[in-house]
Amino acid sequence: MPDQRTALVGLTSRQIQDIVVGLGERPFRGSQIAGWVYRKQAESFEEMSDLPAALRQKLSEDFAVSPLQVADHRTSSDGVDKLLVHKGDGQVYECVLLPYADRVSCCLSSQVGCPMACTFCATGLGGFDRNLTVGEIVGQYLLLQRFSPRRVGHVVFMGMGEPLLNLENLLAAIRILSTEVGLSLRHITVSTVGLVPQIDRLAAERLPIHLALSLHSPIDEVRSRLMPVNNRWPVAEVVEAMRRYQAATGRKVTFEYLLIDQTNDTPEQAEHLARLVKGLSCVVNLIPFNYVETPNGFRRPGRERVAEFRRILESRRVNVTERVERGHDIAAACGQLAGQHAGRFGRRPMAPLTVAP
Ligand code: SAH
Repeated sequence: MPDQRTALVGLTSRQIQDIVVGLGERPFRGSQIAGWVYRKQAESFEEMSDLPAALRQKLSEDFAVSPLQVADHRTSSDGVDKLLVHKGDGQVYECVLLPYADRVSCCLSSQVGCPMACTFCATGLGGFDRNLTVGEIVGQYLLLQRFSPRRVGHVVFMGMGEPLLNLENLLAAIRILSTEVGLSLRHITVSTVGLVPQIDRLAAERLPIHLALSLHSPIDEVRSRLMPVNNRWPVAEVVEAMRRYQAATGRKVTFEYLLIDQTNDTPEQAEHLARLVKGLSCVVNLIPFNYVETPNGFRRPGRERVAEFRRILESRRVNVTERVERGHDIAAACGQLAGQHAGRFGRRPMAPLTVAP
């Protein structure tokens, strides 16, 4: 059942202050409560031990701390945790905790499902339900932080959904993560299919957040087959928008490049890509296709093909990184988040994902 109470997660400490002042409390209680919500990750008002019992009682009648409930939690053999969450309405979405040797990162969703219909992506193949609220975005971070013994200092918006289609809530969530939680904006990455007007709107905010474009081919004909959005904003236009973003923010940009066997992994496309990004302060992040069952029967290229693609880019002086796949055994790798429990929780049922041998 959806909780009818207003959730505090998603509100700024100023907004929380207005609420408590409205209840007849002194203003400082606002930042005190915000501290419990965002810095100490309290899950209930009972935990807020320095608040008067009467206030805790009064708050819990009309307010909830977080809007989220956990429907499922899985841990992969390589140490990745995936949470399946919802706000009680049965529309589930996923977020992932990614511990590394030097830092802990997390991958958050911005929408339930996704309308962009990329042909290689489990979420895209499953259709779209709705945008997430500010509280549902920040709530994912707070839940994951509670699961992590180490501080979660990095956030990537590479979960379900297209973040720039939910730009207002995304920006409000990023502001809370920065101002209330205390994350560095430089440690927040937004990944987009390449919606040119929204990239320009984000650039106009002049926030030092990191922008990643899912490029996946430098050739319009190939990219349009992979990503229908390319019919609206083709390669040249979207790369220009990334140049403008870089100029406006001074941040290095990332081009994500999914490698699909015999499709976008040819030496010609590597050379074309190197020409395309010339002069841009950027890194190309290669992501060997994580297997999901697609109508096109896409497959991951062999290791030699990936190495050759990388070699060509590096010989043209392009900065290249390669994404290490994690969480595969719990379908938590990039592109695999699809709300597999959908049937059980009411979202339109989907075929279960199959994992390649
Ligand atoms: N909508 C945004 C963010 C979510 S997807 C975007 O498209 O950028 C995060 C990344 O995972 C994108 O680069 C996406 O192209 C990639 N991805 C999707 N399906 C994948 C798959 N099966 N294997 C590997 N990466 C995939």
